[in-house]
Amino acid sequence: MAVVKSTMWLLQSTKWHRRMTHVNFKNINKLAKHGLVNGLPSKLFTNEHNCVACNKGKQHKASYKAITAVSTTVLPA
Ligand SMILES: [Zn+2]
Repeated sequence: MAVVKSTMWLLQSTKWHRRMTHVNFKNINKLAKHGLVNGLPSKLFTNEHNCVACNKGKQHKASYKAITAVSTTVLPA
């Protein structure tokens, strides 16, 4: 039963995270603590790093390949 409640709370945390345009969980907890949002439960929101959109946004781009050959062409003056 505790696992079901935990899973339900995790889903609700994710729902509020998406609803607030992917704001971080620290700020959601601040809003909940001070009661600044109507309908937002005052429980502690948890981050399980399972948001695909946030994970994609934090990915770094692949680096460029290193140049192994140096061009020695002389440009006309
Ligand atoms: Zn997100």
